[in-house]
Amino acid sequence: MLNWRADRRLARVTTNDQLRTCDVAIVGGGIVGLATAYRLLQDRPGTDVLLLEKESTVGAHQTGHNSGVIHSGIYYKPGSRKAETCVRGAAAMKEFCREHGIPVDHCGKVVVATDESEIPRLDELERRGRANGVPDMRRLDPDGLREIEPHATGLSALHVPGTAAVDYVAVSRKLAELVQAAGGEVRTGAHVTGLERDGTGVRVDVDDGTHIEAGFAVTCGGLQSDRIARGTAPETRTRIVPFRGEYYVLEPDSRHLVRGMIYPVPDPRFPFLGVHFTRTVDGGVEAGPNAVLALHREGYGRFAFSLRDTVSTLTFPGFWRLASRHLSTGAGEVYRSFSKGAFTRALQKLLPGIRAEHLRRGGCGIRAQALDPQGKLVDDFVLAESDRVVHVLNAPSPAATASLAIGEQIAAHVSNAPAIRTSLAKR
Ligand SMILES: Cc1cc2nc3c(=O)[nH]c(=O)nc-3n(C[C@H](O)[C@H](O)[C@H](O)COP(=O)(O)OP(=O)(O)OC[C@H]3O[C@@H](n4cnc5c(N)ncnc54)[C@H](O)[C@@H]3O)c2cc1C
Repeated sequence: MLNWRADRRLARVTTNDQLRTCDVAIVGGGIVGLATAYRLLQDRPGTDVLLLEKESTVGAHQTGHNSGVIHSGIYYKPGSRKAETCVRGAAAMKEFCREHGIPVDHCGKVVVATDESEIPRLDELERRGRANGVPDMRRLDPDGLREIEPHATGLSALHVPGTAAVDYVAVSRKLAELVQAAGGEVRTGAHVTGLERDGTGVRVDVDDGTHIEAGFAVTCGGLQSDRIARGTAPETRTRIVPFRGEYYVLEPDSRHLVRGMIYPVPDPRFPFLGVHFTRTVDGGVEAGPNAVLALHREGYGRFAFSLRDTVSTLTFPGFWRLASRHLSTGAGEVYRSFSKGAFTRALQKLLPGIRAEHLRRGGCGIRAQALDPQGKLVDDFVLAESDRVVHVLNAPSPAATASLAIGEQIAAHVSNAPAIRTSLAKR
């Protein structure tokens, strides 16, 4: 335990048994929060780390509702946080899984241009991949594509053999186990209701009445990240706008149509990748996800609705600016959400042999996508860093892939914070 406020702590404990102190409090037990706790304890063994997760298990939201892809880094602008942490994070994730016996399917992927107009965008992905150091990429002509994915068709494709599939909930559980084995605490069922700086640290309030006095706080709240940041980073101008991503699963007798992963060339105006086929580690194949505005940040039912979340979206000027620019794309996504035929037709561009009877509805995930007041979907990862608090404000895909690299960066920032350095020196 760091001891920069030992005297005050002792005084408070006698009057309030709900007080807990720690060196670093981490809010959010998704993969980014867990990876941060894990890296911190690797960097600074003995640090008193307390991770607070409101749900009863770790990885309950985005981390447990995603495509399970270890991305390779072809999509991201060279020099961006995404590019840098995705390539490094993918290698670290594969190594972590190897070390801890978590299954990874190294199935690779193809990105397929089905239309002449997509070729320059495929060229750009190839250029980005090379600039980002993605290994072993290869351009394929239609015959080359058929060798890798016999049922896919396209004019040209990019083969990325390093893309793989994993279960990020299994990774999260292992991270939680390692954090606890290293002396950290992972507390589930702990809903953080307040976060504010006080004179010498950060005060964190939990809904069970516990008050935590932390030397440093890191918030990785995913779909709630803007709300959590409000108290200590009032200058935050972005708002989380939730986008639902719905999946179909291929019936077992049609899984042979997909060997690895088959992606379209994404529309560069959006940070989403377009509906695609992905193998899952348990041998299944998923198709999706689409991107439809969600009316509930953490509600997974088809008609889930939260007045608070809907008002939060509709009262944000950035949302209306975004909506006015992309009305027809949004309407198309909603149509595909309700029409299996339309969803199937989108998939047939990549895989002409797929038919509606090959597909049954699967699960869905909800993306925490930051939107700025001008209506721009924030593309890169965003961290707001100060001497006492780091807020992760935007960590959409590929943040699961990149989590160990993001965690490493945050851990380095926390370890170098003057408060933490001083306290460690006093030990
Ligand atoms: C449909 C979909 C597909 C995706 N596919 C991929 C993919 O294939 N590969 C990839 O790399 N990435 C993918 N992503 C992105 C990836 O899942 C996320 O970037 C990543 O999981 C973010 O992790 P996180 O820890 O920031 O957020 P989350 O996993 O959402 O965790 C945030 C946690 O904070 C907790 N929390 C919130 N508020 C509080 C509070 N007040 N008190 C306590 N706890 C709180 C929540 O309960 C939650 O558990 C996908 C995302 C979606 C939605």
